[in-house]
Amino acid sequence: MALFTDFGYTDEQKMMRESLLRLAADTLPPARIRELDREGAWPHEAYQALAKAGWLGLLYPERYGGLDGSYKDLVVLLETLSYHYACLGTTYMTSPIYAGLQVLHNGSEELRRDYLVPMLRGELYFAFALTEPQTGSDAASIKTHARRDGGDYVLNGQKWFITSAHVADWLVVVVKTDPSADPPHRGFSLLFVDARAKGVTIRPIETLGRHTTHTNQIFFDDVRVPARCLLGEENRAWKQLMRGLNLERVAIAACGAGNAQKAVEIASDYARQRVQFGQPISRLQVIAHKLADMRIKAEVARLVTYRTAEMMDAGVDARMETAIAKVVATENDFQCADIGMQVMGGAGYSMEHDMQRLFRDSRLGPIGGGSNEIQRNIIAKLMDL
Ligand SMILES: Cc1cc2nc3c(=O)[nH]c(=O)nc-3n(C[C@H](O)[C@H](O)[C@H](O)COP(=O)(O)OP(=O)(O)OC[C@H]3O[C@@H](n4cnc5c(N)ncnc54)[C@H](O)[C@@H]3O)c2cc1C
Repeated sequence: MALFTDFGYTDEQKMMRESLLRLAADTLPPARIRELDREGAWPHEAYQALAKAGWLGLLYPERYGGLDGSYKDLVVLLETLSYHYACLGTTYMTSPIYAGLQVLHNGSEELRRDYLVPMLRGELYFAFALTEPQTGSDAASIKTHARRDGGDYVLNGQKWFITSAHVADWLVVVVKTDPSADPPHRGFSLLFVDARAKGVTIRPIETLGRHTTHTNQIFFDDVRVPARCLLGEENRAWKQLMRGLNLERVAIAACGAGNAQKAVEIASDYARQRVQFGQPISRLQVIAHKLADMRIKAEVARLVTYRTAEMMDAGVDARMETAIAKVVATENDFQCADIGMQVMGGAGYSMEHDMQRLFRDSRLGPIGGGSNEIQRNIIAKLMDL
């Protein structure tokens, strides 16, 4: 088995999927993925191969070396990468999508030339820092602040759970620049911060899964940030952040849809081979139904994700659909891994097989990127409840 049908793809999207699958197989064979997961090591080879092939610029304008791709193209790419390995999708989302697009949309031409173009070539890596120890879902309550001092901002505070910050060269950091703003989010700005600047300390946080892209705590202690590194207008960051939300949700959904398909594949292959009571367990109706349920969940995850991307490409307001896609794809992904583990019995629970990794990695989906409770709040609000 492999990824589900490519029905509805353009010829370019079909070629993209084939080429990404080859690239992922060559640079990250299964044994290497297991090794990276065990060691908590970052997938540098695969990321560099993506950069070399030009994929980091998929959503970027040609003038910066990009491919001017569509949202559906991005969904095809992320689904494919995450099907191969969930964390490969995350490495991609973090720098070119979460952090990089803020520089594209809000950075000066000088910042784009000096940092964005090298990032798209794989020479620099960016991470995105919003969450703080006291502030997750309630993002408008962040405390990290920056005050203007001559030609610089002076940055103090802490960020928490910042994916891949330990390998990042630059950080896109959400800070408070007007402490008296009411409501507080009208006083937020975005700063582009050198991850190796004096006063920046980055420490890893141990987590259940996502070991290779792992997540970090960042301390900012009187960090001087040149004023030219302000992204967009001072105190206008909230609006800038809201602009990226639909894309973030559909991107997370695409990763969930890809990972879910891998869970179906692993569990089905195992069930066909595992013999109990004289027959493969896949012939037991109760197991076959579990596998059918996994297939349904994975199919629904990708259908809702593709349709949402198509709506976004058509310029239709898709706030409701992106929230739905994020909930459905991430919950179906985790449920596929959970059912897959049951199908595989003790083997699913053992570290000898990959299902436990899919189970651990997929558990993040309903928590991160705006938890699924927050997505349901958004859906309920848009329903005028
Ligand atoms: C592995 C990992 C990687 C991450 N990477 C990044 C990153 O790169 N950059 C970044 O900025 N952040 C990152 N995050 C942070 C992530 O976005 C937050 O964890 C997430 O937004 C939830 O915030 P919280 O963990 O503080 O939970 P809390 O906000 O404390 O929520 C706890 C629980 O309460 C629920 N809850 C809270 N408020 C409401 C409400 N109003 N209505 C209903 N339920 C509610 C939540 O849904 C959740 O179930 C990452 C997190 C993890 C675990």
